[in-house]
Amino acid sequence: MNYVDRLGQNTYTNCIQGVKTVAVSGHIRPDGDCVGACLGLSAWLLDRYPELTVDVYLDPIPEEFLFLKHADKIRQENEDDVVYDLCIALDCSDPDRLNRASRIFEEAARTVCIDHHITNQGFGDRSVVCPESSSTCELLYYLFEDGRLFGSGEFSYDCAQALYLGIVHDTGVFKHNNTTLETMTAAGKLMGFGLNTEKIINDTFFRKTYLQNQLLGKALTESILMLDGRMIFSALYQKDFRLLGASEKDTDGIIDQLRVTEGIHVALFLYETREGDFKVSLRSDEAVDVSQIAAEFGGGGHVRAAGCTMTGNMHDIVTNIATRAEMQLIDYQQARDLYPEPTQDI
Ligand code: AMP
Ligand code: MN
Ligand code: MN
Repeated sequence: MNYVDRLGQNTYTNCIQGVKTVAVSGHIRPDGDCVGACLGLSAWLLDRYPELTVDVYLDPIPEEFLFLKHADKIRQENEDDVVYDLCIALDCSDPDRLNRASRIFEEAARTVCIDHHITNQGFGDRSVVCPESSSTCELLYYLFEDGRLFGSGEFSYDCAQALYLGIVHDTGVFKHNNTTLETMTAAGKLMGFGLNTEKIINDTFFRKTYLQNQLLGKALTESILMLDGRMIFSALYQKDFRLLGASEKDTDGIIDQLRVTEGIHVALFLYETREGDFKVSLRSDEAVDVSQIAAEFGGGGHVRAAGCTMTGNMHDIVTNIATRAEMQLIDYQQARDLYPEPTQDI
């Protein structure tokens, strides 16, 4: 489906009209798409409406994104309890995940939600939720090109750089199956604004610190195969972080390495955020819809990449998830037995 169809069904009017103050925010533990979307949107708005106040609220962002323009101005707290004319939630599947910005969103005179998570049921005065989009940054690119919602015009270098970074991160550098012709078209057009794409990709996606590599090594060495080799899981505990002097942010990329294990349909990675509390990441291929599993445990995400937080003992958590994954794998296998893929000699 192209974007004329995706966006055409809505009647858009410029949401900045009559607005003097805007708060922009995204989900807890901001990733590349979330940071890129927030900074890309604020650049777009300030380029068009210089008199507008645009404040970005996010939890502390990973260091590798700090080179983006205005990343240094991101706020964590609404210290003066400002009530904004408009609050825009980006890349966030439900208002609770705005974390500290939930209150800003609730209190704002008007609210807009722009997102691509399949589990997002829409919230706020106006929602643009497009699960076909690889990333919120891709969706923003087409909304900006469309011009109705946020005003029209050219992309600045800073806006293009932020959006490109977000697309790179949510597509795993154009690798995941959420990468479409529209994704590549948007990325190609953004590249045309003179971006150093190799540097963006290497410095923000592939580069790992020594500590991150150590943690990755530990997670891989201690990973366990389940369900006859169709599922893999690994976990890191607070004591592991303490031992290596690492922190949660050093876990980036571990789930991606687990998921490329041969024969695996489902990868599960957990890390302990506090004693007994776990952040759960799930990845899959065409056999399993992990967004369903994550949603059952109060989380959400996409068909092939989802997450949730769970409390309890590790054995129970893993068993709960594995049972659900196994049910889907049985259905998948039955469907394949009924409708086998054609072999070469047919
Ligand atoms: P992660 O494993 O944290 O990289 O998350 C994979 C995908 O699932 C991302 O699109 C997240 O936004 C989404 N996700 C992760 N955790 C949650 C959660 N607790 N609730 C809703 N969505 C989540
Ligand atoms: Mn995200
Ligand atoms: Mn995203």
